[in-house]
Amino acid sequence: MKHPFVVGNLYSRKDIYKIVNVPVPRQKGAWNTGYTIYDDSAFIFANIGVPGTTGHDYENLLVGNILHWYSKTTDTIHVPRLKRIMSGEIEVYIFTRTDSKNVNFTFQGLGTLVDYDDIKPAYIAWELLKDVKSNTFSNNKAKVKERIKFLEGTKTSSITTRYERNPKAREECLNHYGYDCQVCGFNFYTTYGNIGRNYIHVHHLVEISTIGDTYEIDPINDLRPVCPNCHAILHKRKPALSINELKRILAQK
Ligand SMILES: [Zn+2]
Ligand SMILES: [Zn+2]
Repeated sequence: MKHPFVVGNLYSRKDIYKIVNVPVPRQKGAWNTGYTIYDDSAFIFANIGVPGTTGHDYENLLVGNILHWYSKTTDTIHVPRLKRIMSGEIEVYIFTRTDSKNVNFTFQGLGTLVDYDDIKPAYIAWELLKDVKSNTFSNNKAKVKERIKFLEGTKTSSITTRYERNPKAREECLNHYGYDCQVCGFNFYTTYGNIGRNYIHVHHLVEISTIGDTYEIDPINDLRPVCPNCHAILHKRKPALSINELKRILAQK
């Protein structure tokens, strides 16, 4: 690690200028916009929400070791500075705070890309590397490139991942759960008769950001039948809402 930040410690932007050696004329500006590149390192400052409280579409969430992060509203993954941040070529220092009025951010570690979405604002899931001393970034670029290739294979459409389309897994899931939507209870056969028989979407509960090359789908633990309406709403947020979160939202309506 190029700059000696300590995971879990608090830093104000002023502290960071000192540690990184940012001369006064280069301070503020881009540093206050959420992310910047300086001295061949990227610095991300994220305000994070609490999962399941607001249900906003674009909200940074920290779930386990993964930061689900949105860029500035005007940026997509194609703007040069984000391309560089995603490339694996530079170290990505991730700082978060839960209260946007607090001047201090917690250093969460170095980020390595595990998922992205070509939306506006850009979405990136960062795995947080906490044990930063033992991590060298010499081979990170290759790893990130491989990861991006893997992710491209899963992005056939925004809501239908290859796991949700796996016919064998789908069949096992439906044999177990039946054809009622697990969120709202909708059943196509009950409403439409014969033409609706055996029609339902299957939703994959596991975030792509947490899936590695060796992942094997578990049709009963990882998949649930949901109707297309509920399915679309589940995926309105990244990370997707949980079945229970959407059930709660529905119950409040
Ligand atoms: Zn439904
Ligand atoms: Zn789904």
